[in-house]
Amino acid sequence: MSSAVELYGVFGHPVAHSLSPFIHGIFARDCGEQVSYRAYDVAPEEFEERAKEFFASGGRGLNITLPHKIAAVEVAQELTARAAHAAAVNTLTLQDDGMVLGDNTDGAGLVRDLCDNLGLVVTQRRVLILGAGGSTRGVLAPLLGLEPAIVVIANRTPERAEALAAAFADLGVTQGVGFAYVGETPFDLIINATSASLSGDIPPIPAGAIGPETVCYDLAYGRSAMAFVRWAQQAGCARAVQGLGMLVEQAAESFQLWRGVRPETAHVLAALKERVGSL
Ligand code: NAP
Repeated sequence: MSSAVELYGVFGHPVAHSLSPFIHGIFARDCGEQVSYRAYDVAPEEFEERAKEFFASGGRGLNITLPHKIAAVEVAQELTARAAHAAAVNTLTLQDDGMVLGDNTDGAGLVRDLCDNLGLVVTQRRVLILGAGGSTRGVLAPLLGLEPAIVVIANRTPERAEALAAAFADLGVTQGVGFAYVGETPFDLIINATSASLSGDIPPIPAGAIGPETVCYDLAYGRSAMAFVRWAQQAGCARAVQGLGMLVEQAAESFQLWRGVRPETAHVLAALKERVGSL
């Protein structure tokens, strides 16, 4: 008996570089799921119409990447709590009742990579997040769910860090500051969620924030985004990692949402590291 192939994809602009078709292709093959997954280059002004067309013509689920994660909130007819907290959607799912559910799996992907893949303990640890953009907003609730001692958010534009810290203060101990006010006490975990690595820039935080026990994690990944991890290694951190694991884990979370099965991720991550030259 053969079941029909169901259609999934990723909307982005640009999207040619996306690793999602590769990742979901392996997940589908491994899990024996009849799934087709394609990348669609969709300009911002067409996003809403194209998303509605996709579902009206039988599409079952979409991943949403830059620059559409905020616009996708409007396309969703229902939101999960974590998507509402993030004010951004990276996964749309056509449910059995015909409603399109918006979810955000980025934070869960980060937490799974930190805790399961890297074996880090975040509970009662001091965490510093650099950047106060969309991805910081997306990961804050799941990260605070691990009950760190404090999450300090530092940003080039301090007001944005302060606003985010205030918006999430009900979920844990948060503080928003400019880079210069991060302090000289080493953090256990520093997450770079700025887009600075892509241009080779390093957020100017005090040297004392990194100690020999500090783990540094850059959400960016690949050969062209090594600036932060190289700098952290030279500053004497315990370990510096790029965010490829988060990418694979958020994809696994989406796949599970769509198909009801959780794919194995370790070999996918290993294959991707080889492919993009990631740390
Ligand atoms: P975003 O919303 O555009 O926010 C960018 C942030 O970077 C802002 O806080 C901005 O500060 C800061 N910034 C930009 N250039 C800087 C510089 N030269 N020096 C210091 N700070 C700078 O971007 P995003 O969506 O949060 O994405 C951030 C990074 O995460 C990107 O590299 C993206 O590729 C990566 N990411 C990875 C994954 C994954 O699965 N691994 C998932 C999502 C995102 P201001 O507020 O002062 O402008």
